[in-house]
Amino acid sequence: DGRQRIAKVMARAGVASRRDAEEIIRAGRVAVNGKLIDTPATLIGPDDRVTIDGEPMPTRERTRLWLYHKPRGLVTTARDPEGRPTVFEALPPDLPRVVAIGRLDINTEGLLLLTNDGGLARVLAHPDTGWLRRYRVRAYGETDQATLDGLANGVTIDGMHYGPIEARLERKQGDNVWLTVGLREGKNREVKRILEHLGLKVNRLIRVSFGPFQLGDLGEGAVEEVRTRVLKDQL
Ligand code: URA
Repeated sequence: DGRQRIAKVMARAGVASRRDAEEIIRAGRVAVNGKLIDTPATLIGPDDRVTIDGEPMPTRERTRLWLYHKPRGLVTTARDPEGRPTVFEALPPDLPRVVAIGRLDINTEGLLLLTNDGGLARVLAHPDTGWLRRYRVRAYGETDQATLDGLANGVTIDGMHYGPIEARLERKQGDNVWLTVGLREGKNREVKRILEHLGLKVNRLIRVSFGPFQLGDLGEGAVEEVRTRVLKDQL
């Protein structure tokens, strides 16, 4: 009837070897249609929804990638324990099931990459991938270019090391400064923490690029698929 053992389906999808898939299942990390399972012999069909650690299992479908202009006020996790609105509820309904590549804070705007390929998402979101993330930032306080140049070799804050940071003072606006900040990591709250370390309080944070992809003039809330040819060249 088209159903197969879940461990085999996971191995086919490239998630892990058959044996590792069985371990992952026994460890209670896999759910089918939202219900945790613990036996690798569980049978599933094409319509069953499999998640691993709460994330959709990658499939063998063609990898697709979208640019999304995230508005403020949305969380990038699939389900928010506090019930705040998520980007996934805000996306156009005709979009296939996607995951976000990395996260943006609830009050951060701008470029968020979405993909139907969970494996790709994990690889690209990992700090070691090293793609440049560039932000336009408005922060309350004062600074100068010499201070910002001091971030070029990285900085350690409360025991957490942040690698090389490009930061440029663009202009002052009243009690605020506008900066462009570029980093290659993707650590939690990194821009806010680094600037806070310099006595600056971020009050607007807009991601304008992620690796080779630009926010450009994509409208707030809009989604645009990256053409496959472009994708192949970049990944
Ligand atoms: N740095 C932050 O502080 N927040 C983000 O959302 C992204 C980078």
